[in-house]
Amino acid sequence: TVRTRFAPSPTGFIHLGNIRSALYPWAFARANQGVFILRIEDTDLERSTQAAVDVIIEGMKWLGLDHDEGPFYQMQRMDRYKAVLAEMQAQGLVYPCYMSVAELDALRERQMASKEKPRYDGTWRPEPGKVLPPVPEGVKPVLRFKNPKDGVVAWDDKVKGRVEFSNSELDDLVIARPDGTPTYNFCVVVDDIDMAITHVIRGDDHVNNTPRQINIFRALGKEPPVYAHLPTVLNEQGEKMSKRNGAKPVTQYRDEGYLPDAMVNYLARLGWSHGDDEIFSREQFLQWFNLDHLGSSAGRFDEAKLRWVNAQHLKAMDDVALSALVAEQLSKRGITADERLPRICGLFKDRCDTTVALADWAQPYYTDVMVKDEDRAQHLTDAIRPAVASLAGKLASCNWDKASIGAAIKEVITEQGVKMPQLAMPVRVLTMGTPQTPSLDAVLELHDRKKILARLQNA
Ligand code: GLU
Repeated sequence: TVRTRFAPSPTGFIHLGNIRSALYPWAFARANQGVFILRIEDTDLERSTQAAVDVIIEGMKWLGLDHDEGPFYQMQRMDRYKAVLAEMQAQGLVYPCYMSVAELDALRERQMASKEKPRYDGTWRPEPGKVLPPVPEGVKPVLRFKNPKDGVVAWDDKVKGRVEFSNSELDDLVIARPDGTPTYNFCVVVDDIDMAITHVIRGDDHVNNTPRQINIFRALGKEPPVYAHLPTVLNEQGEKMSKRNGAKPVTQYRDEGYLPDAMVNYLARLGWSHGDDEIFSREQFLQWFNLDHLGSSAGRFDEAKLRWVNAQHLKAMDDVALSALVAEQLSKRGITADERLPRICGLFKDRCDTTVALADWAQPYYTDVMVKDEDRAQHLTDAIRPAVASLAGKLASCNWDKASIGAAIKEVITEQGVKMPQLAMPVRVLTMGTPQTPSLDAVLELHDRKKILARLQNA
């Protein structure tokens, strides 16, 4: 069985660049009837927050990236890591290192001075026949992993192809701090083993960790999973997307009126492709998704493109399903929608790219309309007032459907000798707050008759 995971660190609000690293492992699991696991890597106590965890969970739920197992929290697995550490110690896979911070700094400076890559020099690594320095008193050691000294560590990355590191470049990694707490790379390996992860799909900022993690896997007698390292997502300025340069938390897109399926579609294309297909449903995506078409160059976020993708999905969406999302937007404005909303959505969705825009169109059906002075001055001239009043009279008694409303409008035009726009513009302004709307009979039909009469008569 395919088993994948998303392993975010809750140290900042998850943005689109991060959540793409959830989308692909989720899709790969779903496409292969596999299992998708959520693991929260919260060991950085200073920077991890519950609020960040909440955005991860809410954002994934909103996008429909459901997990089968978890969320697991690394902080709750400390006993397990410590047990594995003890086992490794018993097997001689790790060793205590008493080098102080000052000594490490001095070593580093010497290496920099002679243009060497700074790395731990193995002072405390036990070797046959080697005499270790005397253990200093009162110093708690770190534990270091005995990285193989020779050979290479390599893997066939699903995105990057063959990647190779020479073991001589990797020093002996600290896997436990002086207080006994395990370090990042070690926890990841224990988790990936315990959770039986088959495919690790993650950001390529982890490529340098991978050879170290593979060596720990092998020391523990396990084969590493398949790796796919995704290129970074860049923002519109071409910088790595991050909270610091203005990336929004993923849940903000929900609040701004984006559709989950459109987000999935857009994010999918930000590092993977299926020929030239640009607009596709979640189901199509899952049918098509595999690791062979992951792109190797950085995707660039483009908000205008995202809006366009959203508009395509919005237009294609069933009116009833769409109205449920628009109702949520309206309820944030204190408006309770009713059974007219699906038809309102159907009438206006072609001119909208978000559910917020659609809620703006729906709003005049439920609240008073703000008529701007300049619109009133331009469209509601004294010359047209009699025609508006006459329309109000006819609308008071006609049948309340599009055809009858349309007929009433035509009668007024003939009787009063005015042109369609002369009559329609002021009526639109009075009933919708804007002169640009779909055809007037369709717009009015969905309004409440009493409300319309009041608005036209008040004019
Ligand atoms: N916690 C890591 C991050 O947020 C991901 C680790 C992994 O996927 O192996 O970047």
